[in-house]
Amino acid sequence: MANVPPLEASIGAENGEQLRATYAGLKRHVPLLYAVALANVVGLHVATGGEVTSFTSPVPPLVFLILWRVRHWLSNRGAELSPRAITKELKKTLLYAAAIAGAFSVWAQLLITHNVGTINSVVFFSSLATIGCAYALSSYPPAAMLPLGLLGTPVAVRLFLEGGTPQVGMGLSLLLVMLLTWQLLRAQNHTVTDLVSSRLRLRKENQRALAAEKESDRLANIDVLTNIANRRALLSSIRSSEEERQQSVLALIDLDAFKPINDAFGHHAGDLVLETVARRLEEKFGDLALVARMGGDEFAIHWRSGLSPGSTLAVGHEICRLVEEPIVVEHRALQVFACCGLVRQEPDYGRRVDLLRQADLALYAAKSRGKSETVLFSQDLLATEDRHARIGRALASGAAEDELSVVFQPITKLEDLEVVGFEALARWNDPKLGFVGPNEFITAAEQMNLIGILTERLLQLSLDCAVTWPGNLGLSFNVSSMQLCELGAARRLLAKMEKVGFDPSRFQIEVTETALLTDFALARENISILKDAGAMIALDDFGAGHASISYLREMSFDVVKLDGSLVANLTQSKQTLQLLEGVLSLCRSLGVRCVAEHVENSDQLATLRAMGCDMVQGYFVGRPVANSKLGKYMSLRDCKQIARQLGRW
Ligand code: C2E
Ligand code: CA
Ligand code: CA
Repeated sequence: MANVPPLEASIGAENGEQLRATYAGLKRHVPLLYAVALANVVGLHVATGGEVTSFTSPVPPLVFLILWRVRHWLSNRGAELSPRAITKELKKTLLYAAAIAGAFSVWAQLLITHNVGTINSVVFFSSLATIGCAYALSSYPPAAMLPLGLLGTPVAVRLFLEGGTPQVGMGLSLLLVMLLTWQLLRAQNHTVTDLVSSRLRLRKENQRALAAEKESDRLANIDVLTNIANRRALLSSIRSSEEERQQSVLALIDLDAFKPINDAFGHHAGDLVLETVARRLEEKFGDLALVARMGGDEFAIHWRSGLSPGSTLAVGHEICRLVEEPIVVEHRALQVFACCGLVRQEPDYGRRVDLLRQADLALYAAKSRGKSETVLFSQDLLATEDRHARIGRALASGAAEDELSVVFQPITKLEDLEVVGFEALARWNDPKLGFVGPNEFITAAEQMNLIGILTERLLQLSLDCAVTWPGNLGLSFNVSSMQLCELGAARRLLAKMEKVGFDPSRFQIEVTETALLTDFALARENISILKDAGAMIALDDFGAGHASISYLREMSFDVVKLDGSLVANLTQSKQTLQLLEGVLSLCRSLGVRCVAEHVENSDQLATLRAMGCDMVQGYFVGRPVANSKLGKYMSLRDCKQIARQLGRW
């Protein structure tokens, strides 16, 4: 028997497909099927005398059945049936095929019984009906078997039973033809089944490949840690908004004080901070914008349909505020800060604009302003970047080394303005670039890893001057944070002093918090080597950063330099005043002396004196000048006189 789809079996996708193919095949051959059936019924009826032998003759019900089925198929012509309905239809087909083939067979047998002379007509019409109908039903093999089994086979058997050579020959021939038909039907059915299942397999494989592609696309665009979009997704969002010429807005966000959290509390705490920041940004802006993590502690937000010009900066401030909210990690409230660079994509009129680069420049500018700053990109930033690049090229060419010089600013006791020493401040005058501020080129040199060479040169210039000063005056020298965290940095400084014959006890290095944040252990090691040699250590820019007080306890500084921003606010802000009082009393209790920086007027000086600050530095007492002009600062009398002359004392 042929390979048949089980009708009662649950109808899976494959069965459904097979059923549909079977039904479509049946439908295609139905007109011919009934034409063959009707033609042979009518043909046999006419050939055998055209009389209905008795009222039990199967001819009328046969014709009725055939016409009934024709009507049924015609009414079902355009209908799209479900697999379940098709199953029902196939069952009916089986039933009717059995009924028609059975009735025809009974009629054929009756005809031979009543009149053996009709045998040739019976054989002729029933063979044609059997083979014709079997072929017409070939797309549904169980039905195709019915004419073969119920009509053809009994007629062949009857021929054998009738005896006589011609009858047996006819019977044998009929049997063989039916056998052949059966074999052909089976082969054809196999092919159709294979075709359907391979088509289905192909479709399933396509669907699987499509789903896999979709999933890998999703994963490729997601940041695994925070579950928000990643850099790739952001870039494609920017690209498509550029292509569509949308006036989008891009914000780049960089976290501040994240690294120390990671170092102090471990990666788990760091991850939690990143996840929290991502969630806050996503919740606040995710509806209208794409929020992405660019990697590390950098995030981005892209508003494809833009923001109103008035609200762009406000959004930047909102981002900083959201990030600053304390994050509780294992019962501890941690805090990170953010800087934000924003850019609005203006109509470009055909110009190609690199939105990401512009946002990056704005972010860089924000970061150089301090913490929680927001900067909106403007064309000026491009000029700044251009200058930055030129500074970088000049540094790399080595030209800066020969053009460097040092100026010295007096540091005096507050009590009587007696000069105790000078801070060396680097100067660079380039013929093409003009005056380049130390903030500019020191940072650039750090980024280019050229700070070592520069510092050596600056130290040499400073020491060459300082050895000529009276022995009671000290030299205060700035070392960049990167260098303080270099192995062997302290020994190199001491070697230089020894070479020029400068007593390390007259030497003070100024270090910033950033150095301690970069690598506390190495910074401490270098500091203790210098201290052992007799040098003094000053913590510079105290009060400009975020987390200084703890360092005062952990590292034994000799001097703390109060940042200019604190001094500038001193006479205006009560809060600053209280903060300074606290810091001064802490320093007193730790035996650390304080230098107030940026003292610019007598009010500040008077307030600081009342608070018991030890030393001052600033334009009020003396501007930084070249070594050749230091003579006037060399004595207490001169310093006071200068101040008096300027009417400040
Ligand atoms: P800093 O170490 O805090 O140096 C003090 C800065 O304040 C100097 O700026 C000085 O000129 C300025 N200043 C002094 N008194 C006053 C005042 O009364 N009011 C105001 N508004 N400013 C005052 P400068 O020379 O531009 O140096 C800027 C920064 O560059 C320095 O800040 C220091 O961090 C860095 N720097 C300067 N020279 C060197 C160096 O040789 N090596 C390293 N690593 N950094 C240096
Ligand atoms: Ca300094
Ligand atoms: Ca300072």
